[in-house]
Formats: sequence, structure tokens, C-alpha cells
Amino acid sequence: MSRDDYEVVIGLEVHCELSTKTKIFCSCPTEFGGEPNTHCCPICMAMPGTLPVLNEKVVEYAVKAGLATNCKISQNSKNDRKNYFYPDLPKAYQISQYDMPLCYEGYVTIDTEDTEKKIRLTRIHIEEDAGKLNHDEYGRGSFVDLNRAGVPLIEIVSEPDLRSSKEVDSYIRKLKSILEYIEVSDCKMQEGSLRADVNVSVRKKGSKEFGTRTEMKNMSSFRSIVRAIDYEAERQIDILENGGVIEQETLRWDDISGKTFSMRNKEDAQDYRYFPDPDLVAIKLSDEYIENIRKTLPELPESRIKRYIADFELTEKAAKFVTASKYYSNMFEEAIKECNNPKAVSNWIMSDVARILNEEDKEPDEIPFTGKDLGELVSLIDKGTISTAIAKKVLEEMFKNPEVPSKIIEAKGWVQISDEGAIKEVVMQVLEANPQSVADYKAGKDKALGFLVGQAMKATKGKANPQMLNKMFLEELKK
Ligand code: ADP
Ligand code: ZN
Ligand code: MG
Repeated sequence: MSRDDYEVVIGLEVHCELSTKTKIFCSCPTEFGGEPNTHCCPICMAMPGTLPVLNEKVVEYAVKAGLATNCKISQNSKNDRKNYFYPDLPKAYQISQYDMPLCYEGYVTIDTEDTEKKIRLTRIHIEEDAGKLNHDEYGRGSFVDLNRAGVPLIEIVSEPDLRSSKEVDSYIRKLKSILEYIEVSDCKMQEGSLRADVNVSVRKKGSKEFGTRTEMKNMSSFRSIVRAIDYEAERQIDILENGGVIEQETLRWDDISGKTFSMRNKEDAQDYRYFPDPDLVAIKLSDEYIENIRKTLPELPESRIKRYIADFELTEKAAKFVTASKYYSNMFEEAIKECNNPKAVSNWIMSDVARILNEEDKEPDEIPFTGKDLGELVSLIDKGTISTAIAKKVLEEMFKNPEVPSKIIEAKGWVQISDEGAIKEVVMQVLEANPQSVADYKAGKDKALGFLVGQAMKATKGKANPQMLNKMFLEELKK
């Protein structure tokens, strides 16, 4: 048997920190960072005798996430205690949801190579985040920081519907994009606002049974997730090919060695002794409450894609690219108000904006200028004030030293030369300096024209209007 005879099966538990102002059961701020143990109170530090009170915004945001991912919403739900001991969990239990999650049976759609695929969501439930252990680099011990304890989370559990690391990458990107559109989380993976437990198994193609899975917890970078899945699938196939069996265990992915390591196996599998939290009341949602949240949903990618194709004649590819990120999509809509040239704006986003972000290893939310600025750039090209070549330089500058394009162009003296007299002067100089090219052109070598235009562009530092240059060279060469 070979690797191609196997199929990889993946299911994800995605944790997403909600961007409510205050924590889930107290009024401490949820803000990231801060001096250790300064965003805490007796409730989130689990002092005896304190009582939690559920933050209603958490329910609202979770329902919003459920509606945006096609989930059913439970009108009867509750909080449960998940008992386990860990130093970053001062109550020795986490308040979560067990058998009655707020949302269930949803799905999100991802693009695969040839078609679209629905990834089913088992459930979305609310729970509290734990604190954080900071391990002392000199090995003197660990320090606990409870700033994050009690920050609200939703956990989005998928069915084992994913079949490759590539599908997982698309799935997380899609989830992240939806959560950003509905503004329930900042989804900053580098700050741990979005992280995934990745469950991987393999099975022979055609087999109906799933294989035994392993789980890699708390992964928060696309690159690591893709690498870890590919490595883990290979490792499991190797074991099976050598007649071994896969053990169900929790693994740790090590980014440096590019390998997974065992953390704990099934023997010490946790029994969480879930039971309803007696300190909290049941959660009952009326139809009206749910419908009111539905009304607050913004226009989501699927609908934007259709609208961009119908109203702005974008290609499907362009419409999908631009709507993949709320930041791109909002930038696009702002920009076209300014320049009324949707095709050009989408092209700039797909090519140069995306390229620069990629080179700088940045995400669309880190673009330092506005959609209005991008719109102005496009209209400056459309008006002939600058050439496309100069516009590319202006865009680079907008990333480096954010300023409105017209100011950059003015400061740099990059306005396009469209004055006939000035153009003519350059053309004559270039013709005089390049008699060989002139002769070549006259002998039928059309390429020589390109060279001459290039020389004129060089002489004007790219500022000459290219159409005018071309026209004038042709006129002179015909004489
Ligand atoms: P837990 O990890 O809390 O024990 P679950 O049984 O709810 O929980 O499963 C968690 C995740 O594991 C789900 O996303 C599910 O899709 C995935 N999963 C379950 N079985 C498999 C399997 N055989 N291969 C890959 N993923 C799986
Ligand atoms: Zn608190
Ligand atoms: Mg799990």
C-alpha cells in the first residue's frame, strides 16, 4: 500500500475570544496584555463566596456567530462545570456548556480545488478562558497571570469533515472572516484570540470507519497547523504501514523540529465530571430575542460575492478574493465611492496590495491607509495625473509613510508630464542620442520603439505620459 491509498480525516475545535468589553462572569476588562494580575477581581480569581453573573453580551455574540454559520439556536441552554485541576484555573473547574450548547448543527462553506464544500458544525458553546502560566526562563518556577481568566470564549466544534491541511486552512480562514464580519472577535491569532485544537486521523480510502485520532491543542498559526497536519498524517500512515496501531493521545507540535510529541495518552484521559453550575440560572431565549440578533447581522461574504459580480461586473475570482476579508471588502466599497472604478480597485487589491502585505508578512487588517485613499489613487490614474508605474510607487509609499496619494505625489514631484512641449523635448533628445535605434526601427525592427520609449521614461523618471510618448515617437519616426 502507498500513501495515496489513505485518506486524512480532520475535525477542529476552534476557540475564539469574544470582544466584549468585560469578562464573562464579572466586570473586569477583557483587554489583551496589561501588567500581570491587574485585570482581575475576586470573582475571576475565584475567591470563596463570590458568585458569577453571566454577561448578556456573551450570549448575544455567540448567537450572532451561530446565526452567521447557519446554526440552530437553543432556546433552552445552561452553563456547566467542567472539573479539572491546573494552576491557571483557580476555581479548579471551568464554566462551559456540556449537553445544551447555545448553537448546534450549522455549517460553513469552503472552496476546494474544483467545487464548494460544506463543513458541518456540531455545536458552538460559550465558556470562560483560563489564565496564563509564564514559565521563568531560569527555571525558578512558573508565574500565573489571571488577566485572561474569565475572558469569554466561543468554542466552535466541527464534524470530522475536513480531508486535507489545505481544506483546514480554507476552513479556518473562512471562520475567521465570518467572525470578523460580524464583529464578535478581533480574531488576532498572534494574541491567541483565535486558536484551534486539531484532531487528525487517517484511514484507508473507501473505509467507512474512522481511524483513531490524535489531538494537537492550542494551535494559533496557519503555517503551523498545515505543517502539523501533514506531519501527523505521514506519521500515522507510517505506523499503520508497519503494522502498528495509533494510540489516541494529545500531542504537542514543535515548530522548530517540525515534529509532534506525546503529551498525555488515553490512560490519563480526563473525566471532567460535568454538572450544571448551581450558581448560574438557565439561559432561556425568546424567538424575538433571536430574531433581533439576526437583524443585526451585516451582509456576509456569500451575498457580497453575488452583488459584486452583478453590480460591478467583477469576475467570480475577483469577487471571492475581495470578500474573503472584511477589511478588503470594506476598503473596496469605500474606494469605489471615491473613484467609481470597481474593476481597477479590485485589481489593485488583488495584485499590489496583496503582494505588499505578503512581502511584509501582514494581514489585511494592518493596511495603514483607508479605502478613500485607494480610491483617490485610482482616480489620479484615471485622470492622467499619474501613470500606473508611478501609482505603484505611490502605493509603496502609502504603506511606508501613510499619507493621501495627492500629497505624496506633490511632495515627491511625481505628477505625470502630459505637456506636449515637454514630451516633445524628451522625444527629440532621445532620438538624437540613439541613432542606431532609429535606424533599426526604420529597417523594420519594431522592438526599437519600445527601447526608445523606455529611454524617455528613464529620462523623466517614469513621469512621462506613456500614451503621449508612444504617439509622438511614431510621428517623428514616420517623418
Ligand atoms: P473532545 O476532544 O472534547 O474529547 P469530541 O469527541 O467532541 O471531543 O471531538 C472533538 C473533535 O474531534 C471534533 O471536532 C471532531 O470532529 C473530531 N474528531 C472526532 N473523531 C475524529 C477522527 N476519528 N478523526 C479526526 N477527527 C475526529
Ligand atoms: Zn474579574
Ligand atoms: Mg478535543
